[in-house]
Amino acid sequence: MKKGNVHPEYHTDAQITCSCGAVFTTGSTKKELHTELCSHCHPFYTGQQKLVDTAGRVDKFRTRVEKAKKVQEEAKTKTTKQRKKKTIQDKVNEKLTETLEKEQAAEAKAVEKKKTRKAKK
Ligand SMILES: [Zn+2]
Repeated sequence: MKKGNVHPEYHTDAQITCSCGAVFTTGSTKKELHTELCSHCHPFYTGQQKLVDTAGRVDKFRTRVEKAKKVQEEAKTKTTKQRKKKTIQDKVNEKLTETLEKEQAAEAKAVEKKKTRKAKK
């Protein structure tokens, strides 16, 4: 049952135009429709890995991936260099602390000897 004004106009010869160039005729409330993919160009039907990249999103993503790889490689080399530097620094620091501790111990012994001498006097 059709009611008065609630039904939109129905076009039996509506044209669907795909970005690949294919045109279909179908029934729709709109006279013209545009799609980016259809059964002629979608990879599922063609079996080919082909993307219709209208906004350049795939290229953007690829450039981002390359950038991330570069950054990661740089970070790796940096950390290895820092590690090497750290080990050398650590060795120097260890030697320094050893000598300092020895000196401090010697000083402490000398002070104790002086104290004992004073106490004996
Ligand atoms: Zn298409």
